[in-house]
Amino acid sequence: MTLSVTRLSLFLATASLLSACGGSAPEPVAPPQAAVEAPVAETPAEEAHEDHSGEHDHDHEDEEAAGGTAHVHGLADLALTRDGNRFEAELISPLANFGLSEADGKFTDAVTAELSGLIELVGGDCTPAAPHAEVDTTSGHTDGHVHATWTCGSPDRVTALRFAGFTAFSGFESVSAVYITDTAQKAGNLTPSAPELSLK
Ligand SMILES: [Zn+2]
Repeated sequence: MTLSVTRLSLFLATASLLSACGGSAPEPVAPPQAAVEAPVAETPAEEAHEDHSGEHDHDHEDEEAAGGTAHVHGLADLALTRDGNRFEAELISPLANFGLSEADGKFTDAVTAELSGLIELVGGDCTPAAPHAEVDTTSGHTDGHVHATWTCGSPDRVTALRFAGFTAFSGFESVSAVYITDTAQKAGNLTPSAPELSLK
């Protein structure tokens, strides 16, 4: 299990690199969300992630890009891999995307209850296991990790990975998804209007 998670983290790092090379930086999003979400009122959510060096937003973003660990509200990374009839996915997302307080730093019961339908496989007669969620603050930001697994009756017939979380959580705007096995590599940006990554 630990090994698998490590592997997925590598995939996610790769995905971050891919998107970093993609050219177009994520559009800064006007934060109605952030305003609502930040109970600490005096600082907008974006600035809350900076240290107290008094740098501007641009410096903050450069820093994130250099470190290879993006924490931009609205964005998330999703990696899927397959081993035989078993699929395994990990989503790494700013906790704020779930509408949660990053200051509190935990998944609420209400949000946890929504996680079972967050990531779906299309086709393949797959049975999901209950997802596992945890909070990671090691990057200096507050990220949520959601780990999901499926066992599939017809794994070769899984046609797509779908991020269904756009519906339940309006904080998600774009999810960078990758599917990597020994023989396949797919990558794409998922959005509310195009939430599926084709695996074919
Ligand atoms: Zn944040």
